[in-house]
Amino acid sequence: MTTGECIFCNIPQDPNDKQVVYRDDRVFVIRDINPQAPVHLLIIPLMHMASLAYVGPGQVPMMGQIFVVAEEMARREGVTISGYRLVMNQGPDSGQVIEHPHVHLLGGKTLPDIA
Ligand code: 5GP
Ligand code: ZN
Repeated sequence: MTTGECIFCNIPQDPNDKQVVYRDDRVFVIRDINPQAPVHLLIIPLMHMASLAYVGPGQVPMMGQIFVVAEEMARREGVTISGYRLVMNQGPDSGQVIEHPHVHLLGGKTLPDIA
């Protein structure tokens, strides 16, 4: 999949896109279109990467920023104390659908155990 075909690459191109709830120079955040919990956000790096196999030392600031922003978004959504889950799917067995890195932030209810 090229960046032109990628849903997540196209979203931040429009500065007026209402689904973007946060953006900086490395990542942006949207609400999941099919939420699995009362709070279900996607923290998405601006940089397209077809697989986490391409993560290297150069991506450390981007990957770190995902977690800085995740905590900020959890605070804004009021789930810092109640708790939340960060999930990153990679590859077919994980159920990954969008081949652009993204971290799910889920909270606002007791989440099911996962193996
Ligand atoms: P994955 O399984 O790849 O980790 O998760 C992709 C997620 O993106 C799914 O939870 C899906 O509901 C969400 N999603 C797919 N397309 C869109 C979209 O166009 N807008 C938003 N806001 N979420 C999307
Ligand atoms: Zn992309």
